[in-house]
Amino acid sequence: MEPKLTTTINVTKSFLPPREEFDRLVDEIWTNGQLTNNGALSKRFEKEVCGFLGVDDKKFTFVANGTLSLQLAIRGLLGDGGGEIITTPFTYVATTSAILWEGFQPVYVDIDPETLNIDPDKIESAITKNTRAILAVHVFGNPCNVEKIQKIAKKHNLKVIYDAAHAFGVRYQGKSLLEYGDASILSFHATKLFHTIEGGSIYVGDDKLAEKIELLKRFGHDKDDYVQLGINAKASEFQAAMGLANLTHIDDIIESRKRATKLYDSLLEGAVERPVMTDDTDYNFAYYPVLLRDEDRLHEVENKLAKKQIYPRRYFYPSLNMLHYINETYSCPVSEDVASRILCLPLYHGMDESVIKEISKTVKA
Ligand SMILES: *Cc1c(COP(=O)(O)O)cnc(C)c1O
Repeated sequence: MEPKLTTTINVTKSFLPPREEFDRLVDEIWTNGQLTNNGALSKRFEKEVCGFLGVDDKKFTFVANGTLSLQLAIRGLLGDGGGEIITTPFTYVATTSAILWEGFQPVYVDIDPETLNIDPDKIESAITKNTRAILAVHVFGNPCNVEKIQKIAKKHNLKVIYDAAHAFGVRYQGKSLLEYGDASILSFHATKLFHTIEGGSIYVGDDKLAEKIELLKRFGHDKDDYVQLGINAKASEFQAAMGLANLTHIDDIIESRKRATKLYDSLLEGAVERPVMTDDTDYNFAYYPVLLRDEDRLHEVENKLAKKQIYPRRYFYPSLNMLHYINETYSCPVSEDVASRILCLPLYHGMDESVIKEISKTVKA
């Protein structure tokens, strides 16, 4: 059956591999008779995705989704004793909800107005005797100032977790961005650059911790023993099949988004502000954020595009320190300002040039 034709343009569109490629992998599931619990496809997926990312698959765990990956990273590194985790207010809500769900308190530190990542120069004044970790986000796939963050963490004996949900395939200083910090998580959600329908992963600095997280992921259940309190965060063989199918197209996906990005760049030059990319980065072209002059302009652009059935998204709004279930008051003027006037323009694989031109014309006007 042909997919229904629609003229609606959303901020993203999930890549779907040719149906027969997915079907061949699903056939293997039927042959194996194993649907989940780290089956043959999941194992193969872990190996192949690590091959693409250029990281050690012994330190990598495939997880049901990105949010559980964050929770397992927090739990695996910090246990369940609670305390404060320094984090950024400019991100998707899952970064904060994972902290709260694990019984820790998020402490917000404002962002750098150029990279939109946590401002490392503001971290130290937020550290207290209860601080346990720094959970930073490589927002839109743009690397954090990992050197400064590492230095602060070392000085104060803190763990560093990176929410790298946007950073699939990003390389920094010639190696995978996942290599920085004590743990990094990816999201393979359908709306992300690379997806397994739902899915995520954790990459950690050492094999021991990877084993522990692997155990936490499956109820803490090892052979006939319930070794410790765990949860179910396993991904299924169907998710692995989608991942394996999509992985063979990842170079094309990134290349196609790169072309779209360059076209936006040339059409929008001078008309909008853009985040500043960290030096020495091989980018993945995951998002196309633009900063408008103010929130009124943003609404104007949204309304004009909506008339053409084009729907960019307010990534990320509101600044998370403003969430109604955050009781403490934090001053994050940069994040609040950015959140009020940033818009992610549609960007996906195989996007029509005419659509990019139409959007750019509207934004400029
Ligand atoms: C998507 C996302 C998550 C959550 O990932 P899921 O796979 O949807 O659970 C976490 N953090 C950030 C920054 C995200 O964008």
